[in-house]
Amino acid sequence: MQTPQEKKDHYHKIRMERKKVQIDAAIARANTEKGLLLVITGNGKGKSTSAFGMVARALGHGKKVGVCQFIKSRTDTGEEAFFNAQPNCEWHVLGDGFTWETQNRAQDIATSERGWAVATKMLTDPSFDLVVLDELTYLLSYDYLDKDVVLNAISERPEMQHVVVTGRSAIAELREMADTVSEIKDEKHAYKSGIKAQKGIDY
Ligand code: ATP
Ligand code: MG
Repeated sequence: MQTPQEKKDHYHKIRMERKKVQIDAAIARANTEKGLLLVITGNGKGKSTSAFGMVARALGHGKKVGVCQFIKSRTDTGEEAFFNAQPNCEWHVLGDGFTWETQNRAQDIATSERGWAVATKMLTDPSFDLVVLDELTYLLSYDYLDKDVVLNAISERPEMQHVVVTGRSAIAELREMADTVSEIKDEKHAYKSGIKAQKGIDY
């Protein structure tokens, strides 16, 4: 006669055995390797920092990484100071400030095109294992860049190159092309209770 605890342990073991069979089969099926397109979008905090987490992972494996930061113009961020000091990481701040700061569409378009030229170099260079296009989504949703040109460059990139795109409101075509899409939901943000951007957390 089993005690209730023994019964519980017994059923747990059976459940875990079944789970292991399913998980092992799924791992065996997932056997292709290729460069991924990841889109990290949504209104919540954590899009760029997620991308920078992947930069750290890739560098830790000795891979070469390129980062293009669109929109933003600040060059005093902790991430830039840290990653720019890594020999395998090429970091470019290519923005001119937010649209509501510049208030000048023609200027935003010219800045976007200059930035895109830098990104294009990375997207045609197979020595880059990972390319991060931080805040690229805005350049597409505001039509600062030709959508077809951008999507083509991403899809024609070297076969093994991973690309991460971040920013709010990713356009449908980009989501469709992507292998992984994460929509980060805004449940709460300290900023809304009047707390200013914190060094080491927000920049
Ligand atoms: P992070 O760089 O912190 O991962 P993010 O890339 O998800 O943020 P962005 O839209 O690029 O978000 O935000 C840039 C700045 O705005 C960061 O300082 C971030 O903390 C802040 N922020 C992000 N989400 C929100 C939000 N929902 N409300 C207010 N501020 C936000
Ligand atoms: Mg961001």
